[in-house]
Amino acid sequence: MAEEELKPYLITDPAEMSVRIDELRAQGKKIGLVPTMGALHLGHLSLAIASKNECDVTVVSDFVNPTQFAPGEDYEQYPRNLDADITLLSQIGSDFIFAPSPAQMYPRGFEANVHVGGVTKTLEGAFRPTHFDGVCTVVLKLFNITRADVAYFGQKDYQQVCVVKKMVADLNVPTQIAMRPIIRERDGLAMSSRNRYLSDDERRQALVLSKSLDKAEELIKGGERDASVVLDAMREIIATAPSAKIDYLHIGDPDTLGAMERIAGSVVILEAVRIGSTRLIDNKLVERK
Ligand code: AMP
Repeated sequence: MAEEELKPYLITDPAEMSVRIDELRAQGKKIGLVPTMGALHLGHLSLAIASKNECDVTVVSDFVNPTQFAPGEDYEQYPRNLDADITLLSQIGSDFIFAPSPAQMYPRGFEANVHVGGVTKTLEGAFRPTHFDGVCTVVLKLFNITRADVAYFGQKDYQQVCVVKKMVADLNVPTQIAMRPIIRERDGLAMSSRNRYLSDDERRQALVLSKSLDKAEELIKGGERDASVVLDAMREIIATAPSAKIDYLHIGDPDTLGAMERIAGSVVILEAVRIGSTRLIDNKLVERK
């Protein structure tokens, strides 16, 4: 009975979602949104818990957004399990789960596209040129549908947070963006819905991502200021995994992501590495005052 009461209310229709939220906003409730593509894990749940703690109403959106995948990427095989997601969200008491269909989000005749320049051009944007248009378009739609006061994003997708912050600033979107830390497996691998694509052997090899970031942090904290030395040390660690292929390794300014040759002040270290056919990303902020 108690469990039943904690089940999040499942909504698939965007118009119904907005009506429900408008009722709650009229009562002065603060709305927290956690945008996800489902296949939930503790990384997602940490965001939902943050929203539960800081807002009156928590909406978790669960939508594998087709427009952020390019042809040939993993849209079709991306894991989907709404029932398991509902069960997990019941355990933390999320209020709503918003799980529209692609046709409900992009009905026939849909023509809009939200494009942010600058920070979308590099790193993920260089390897996935249409990705951030898809992200910005769906995120703005989700903000508008849920009228979110605060939206929670994971540091796991660091560049995505930079892009969404820029979109919100440039377009005067009244939603506050909150970034929360990366949740990792015990051995350091950043949790990701895509980790389930890895074979046991690839799963072991995937540890080179977090290990290379740890090494970079150790070097920088130890006084290394030459970014190329740090990047070489990372490359050396990644090379120990026979199935690893680096898409990029980058040391940049935490706000603009602009590359740094000499390390001064705080930096973000970002990496994308393919382990076999699975593309993984990870990053680390190294803060210095
Ligand atoms: P996704 O379902 O992969 O689109 O992710 C939805 C949200 O969860 C994004 O804001 C991600 O950055 C965040 N997220 C994914 N994995 C993690 C993680 N391991 N730790 C923290 N946040 C995460």
